[in-house]
Parts: sequence; structure tokens; C-alpha cells
Amino acid sequence: MARQRAITPAGGWQLQLVEVGSGRHPGSWVGPTYPEWYWSPINVLLLESGSDVVLVDCGAGVAGSWWPFEGFRSDTETALAHAGVSPGDVGLVVLTHLDYDHAGGLLQGAWPDDLRLAFPQANVVAHRDAVEAARAADPDEQYNVGTRLLEVLEHESRLVVVDDDDEVARDVRVRSAPGHRAGHVCVHVDGSDPFVHAADTFHHLVHAAHPEWDTSSDQFPELGMGARRAVHTERDTVDLRPKRRRDGAQQGAVPAVSSRTRSRSGHEGRPRRRVRRLRPR
Ligand SMILES: [Zn+2]
Repeated sequence: MARQRAITPAGGWQLQLVEVGSGRHPGSWVGPTYPEWYWSPINVLLLESGSDVVLVDCGAGVAGSWWPFEGFRSDTETALAHAGVSPGDVGLVVLTHLDYDHAGGLLQGAWPDDLRLAFPQANVVAHRDAVEAARAADPDEQYNVGTRLLEVLEHESRLVVVDDDDEVARDVRVRSAPGHRAGHVCVHVDGSDPFVHAADTFHHLVHAAHPEWDTSSDQFPELGMGARRAVHTERDTVDLRPKRRRDGAQQGAVPAVSSRTRSRSGHEGRPRRRVRRLRPR
């Protein structure tokens, strides 16, 4: 595990897409022509500038046993160590949304009563709509990591609630991309070579060409379709596959997603986060 993918610097930040885990799931989550079972990666985005370290999403952490199928791994700390980052280095965590495979990695300890923060120095950004939805949810609802996570963050005075288009770090903005979940955001890095982390707006490269295949994990499917199309429009592309420079870095103008696969074929597709309660299969 512990793959890192260098991305062209943007806005003065060095960017790496870091695979912190993967999960096995029905191929039908990707599309109608996919094999019965499929693996997808769990990616986080690492931004570094001098001593400043920003992490976008965290993997599953304390919720790693919640994956509804056999075949799952998630070890954010080890993956970040391979990328040269320790938990104490991270000054800011930006959550694209509060699904457990994105936000559970903020928590260590034992669920649900002995929880502590995995990144001891980090403030944590979440969109206001995601925060309000989590506060209104039953903390014991299956797959709900968000409500208790917010309690811990507020107890430690680490929560930063933001709104659409707020700048959360230098040249780093969150932009609402609802559909997958209330309060889901894309993370934009501005500059001459801008970059967008689309998180769960897409779950596979093929959804760039077939956005309608990705609605099964959306809480609000029509909004999800709109968000996918908006990313296309903004990037003026229907191809999310990375374009390589001579030095092997990925061109920054191409969006990254949380579960982009490296290959369409075979068993090594990789995970994709999702919350099963939205559509039991
Ligand atoms: Zn999600």
C-alpha cells in the first residue's frame, strides 16, 4: 500500500494524492459492465508548503471495521509516513464530507466511548451543511461517524465551520458540490496551475463519461449529477485521467477524486467510498 502520486504544484503548494486504503465492493457500484466484485482505492490529498501541512480527508481510522463487505484496509498514519508526514505535522484537516471512510481517520481509540484526535495539532474544516446534518443525526445510526466526531472536535475546540467558497488556507478554497452528501465540497487550489480535488463527486474515471452510473451513492442524485457536470464544465474536459508530464508528475489542471482507479481492468480496480444505507443491495 502507501502509494503516492505527485501532482504538479499549485498555488505554492506541493500536492500528493496518497492512497491510504482500499475496499472491495460490487462492480455494479461502478457501472453495469463491471465485474461482480471490484477493488477501489481510498485517497487523501496532501498539501505541503514549507512547514505548513494540510490534509484533505483522512481515511476510515477508527471506523475501519465498518466496511460492509469482506476486503478492506485503511492505515492513514502508515501511508502518510511513507509520504514523509507524521500526524503531529498536520496543521489543518479539510473534510470534503463526513462519511466514515473520509472522516473516521480523525479519530483514534475505541468506538464509541473512548475517542481522541489522531492529528493532535490540527484544526478541522467542515462545511456548515455537513455539520448541521451530523448534529441532527442519531449518533448511533449505522455508519454515522460524524455526530460523535463533531462532539470530540468541539470539546477540543478544533472545529472550523465554513461556507461555500471560503478560503481555508492560502489559495485553498472549498466549494459546495452537494449531491453525494449534504455539505460535500470540492477543494480548489488556485494559482497559475489550478487544481481541484473532487472527492466523491465522482467514484471512478468512467463516471466522467457516464455520470449517470454514479447516482447510487448520492444522497441527492439530481444535485450529484449537477455537481459532476459542473466539474466537467469548469475543467473543460470529460477525461479525468491524469496527464503525465515528462517528469512523471500529474498535470494539476486535472481533478483528482477520492477513489480514482489506476486501471479499468482486472481485480485491481480499487475502492470507492460510499454509504450503504442509501441503497441497500
Ligand atoms: Zn462519501
